[in-house]
Amino acid sequence: MQEIRCPWCGPRVQTEFEYYCDDSLLTEVWGSEAVQQNLDRVFLRSNHLGYHQEIWQHTHGCRGWLRVLRHNLTHEIKESQPLGSNPVVDKDGRMQS
Ligand SMILES: [Zn+2]
Repeated sequence: MQEIRCPWCGPRVQTEFEYYCDDSLLTEVWGSEAVQQNLDRVFLRSNHLGYHQEIWQHTHGCRGWLRVLRHNLTHEIKESQPLGSNPVVDKDGRMQS
């Protein structure tokens, strides 16, 4: 069984968590071109092979929200951090140094 490290509770089994969405969906665009940009962001986003930044909640624990860096082929979880901290990858899925 896979483990996810909750920033507040430590390593826990994945069944204690629930996936919420891809992190890129949380960046809503406002302004005159917002409708088309938001449609593109939600329905035409890239689905590259590699690590994706996702939002999860520790629903059967502290109920905290966290950002998880998960590989979409191997499901390896490389990192997890509190949702309010700075993202690990940019909007195109590239790792930031
Ligand atoms: Zn927790």
